[in-house]
Amino acid sequence: MSKSPYLSVIVPVLNEEKSLIKFYNELILVMKKFKEYEVLFIDDGSDDESIKIIKEFIINDSTVTLIQFFKNYGKSYALSEGFKYSSGDIVITIDSDLQDDPSEIPNLVEKIEQGWDVVSGWKKNRKDPASKTIPSKVFNFVTRTLTGIQIHDFNCGLKAYKKKVVKAIDLYGGLHRYIPALAGKKGFSVTEIEVNHRPRIFGETKYGNNRLFHGFFDLFTMLFTSKYFDRPLHFFGSIGLLLIFISFGTECYAL
Ligand code: UDP
Ligand code: MG
Repeated sequence: MSKSPYLSVIVPVLNEEKSLIKFYNELILVMKKFKEYEVLFIDDGSDDESIKIIKEFIINDSTVTLIQFFKNYGKSYALSEGFKYSSGDIVITIDSDLQDDPSEIPNLVEKIEQGWDVVSGWKKNRKDPASKTIPSKVFNFVTRTLTGIQIHDFNCGLKAYKKKVVKAIDLYGGLHRYIPALAGKKGFSVTEIEVNHRPRIFGETKYGNNRLFHGFFDLFTMLFTSKYFDRPLHFFGSIGLLLIFISFGTECYAL
């Protein structure tokens, strides 16, 4: 590393009171290697002790900021708010439930310094139940095939970005699942590195079985908005024309 870059670390939090202190201690140990950094905790409407714990970090640590939502808006909005307020040259996102390993941050930063715009973590040895890992493999395969972005794990919480990427990406709904695809579609270079992944020890996942449906509709939204956003008639018009041809054909056949 030639000159230590200014880093922003964005941490989405929804009811992670049991993980937060351990997470913060691990994170700070790693961040001390960098000269200048900020940590933005985005509380996404927690109703446990998470906010109180983050406020205690702030008392002794001027690098920490809390952005607080008064209801649960979802991880995409939490990251989006973090992207908006971050001022680092390099922006890191990391989950607060201890499944992502902060000691991977220097590896992500190194890859950005090699010139990549987005570096996505790849949970190659993912420590989640099969009910998560199998559908996730299917989503990743479909996304890779449809977008041409050749990475294995689009929805890893641990990622690094150049500043220009986070200021250009518009996140809403459940689009956080597909950020590398959104960035790739905008012309940014995307790569991945293998990262350590850990089982969830405290608290519980915020995504139940309905994430399969959500994941599918978010994939459709991502594909639609990145291709047809400024020319919706090319999509809906094609479906309309197809239906006209089918009904016309059926009418002719019936006559
Ligand atoms: N999270 C959030 N808002 C939500 C859901 C989750 O900020 O609506 C945070 C959560 O606290 C965690 C991260 O996003 O830090 C990933 O959530 P989770 O661990 O439940 O996802 P999983 O690892 O099960 O896919
Ligand atoms: Mg998790």
